[in-house]
Amino acid sequence: MPYLHQPEDLFRLLDGEPPYRIDQLRRWLYETPVLSSERMTNLPAAVRERLSDLWPFDVEMERSADGGTTRKWLFRAPDGAAIESVLMGYPRRATLCISSQAGCALGCTFCATGQFGFERHLEAGEMVAQVAYARAFLRQVGMPGTVSRLSNVVFMGMGEPLANYDRVREAIRRIVDVMGMSARSITVSTVGLVPGIRRLAEEPWPVSLAISLHAADDELRSSLVPINRRYPLQELEAAASAYFEKKRRRISIEWTMMDSVNDSQDQAVKLAEIAGRLRAHVNLIALNPTPLTSEKASSEAAINAFSRELACRGVNVTVRDTRGRDIDAACGQLRLLAGKPGLGVSQPRQHV
Ligand code: SAH
Ligand code: SF4
Repeated sequence: MPYLHQPEDLFRLLDGEPPYRIDQLRRWLYETPVLSSERMTNLPAAVRERLSDLWPFDVEMERSADGGTTRKWLFRAPDGAAIESVLMGYPRRATLCISSQAGCALGCTFCATGQFGFERHLEAGEMVAQVAYARAFLRQVGMPGTVSRLSNVVFMGMGEPLANYDRVREAIRRIVDVMGMSARSITVSTVGLVPGIRRLAEEPWPVSLAISLHAADDELRSSLVPINRRYPLQELEAAASAYFEKKRRRISIEWTMMDSVNDSQDQAVKLAEIAGRLRAHVNLIALNPTPLTSEKASSEAAINAFSRELACRGVNVTVRDTRGRDIDAACGQLRLLAGKPGLGVSQPRQHV
């Protein structure tokens, strides 16, 4: 399972082979990844055979939506942990949403991952492998009307990246230093773990930061996002502001629109104040309902009114498209379907 190794340790897989094989293998694993070791054409057959267990997971489900431009994978680690990734292709960019934990301990009321509870942290190699897999997929299989190079990675799949700080840090290091992606093209999305935001500000990379806010006063936020009791809005805003000052990277604020919960004019006014002080960009996204959530998505009219309210107060705001809605591409949702019979799930890809 090469991705569980430090890249520096690759020679162990190549015992008895000449030293230049390390570079050859590193290229196949990190720079021009391929879906199968069979494709590693410059390696001898015996070495390719040894590498047949290329990924640290099996591909349990693969689904496609939006005319083939959204692809979602449910990977399964040998210990049974579920890992989800979603690849969204566009004419000029391709964005991969990766998971940083199997499950999540933070229990946001509207989130499918939170409703599952925490399984375990993902290893750095398991995060890097999601990126390598998507890159190999884009190169080898591709998506209609989409670039063949992965351009962006967002930590917006399952889990809270800043609750798994050291491994996420190592994953970012490898994605930047070894895979050669730009740190600016990586976004870490957090529910607001203040110490993690402050540590991230000290790292050498100008990664983008997204704050999942969802409410602009402590009472409402604590009812949706329990960790707000530990790190209330004022502290969160101060940490986000320090990040912006240090990195000069525009913060984005994520806001999941829930009918009659956080789509009022009052919330828009308060959000506009926070976004204004942080000079942040606001992304609105309609709630993707989950089986255990009583909340409903805001109506299109409510989302538009909320968006206008922000815009006329000078806030940069985008209503995000709901890519992959028909394949449950929101956080933790594919996993909910795993194991349920009769869902027309595509054949799992054989161990690639
Ligand atoms: N734990 C991190 C990153 C993973 S969640 C965080 O909370 O930011 C990624 C994004 O999906 C977050 O903005 C989260 O609020 C959002 N999200 C979670 N459940 C959702 C749902 N049911 N519908 C729409 N967005 C959801
Ligand atoms: Fe965890 Fe993010 Fe889901 Fe909250 S929204 S439960 S922090 S994954």
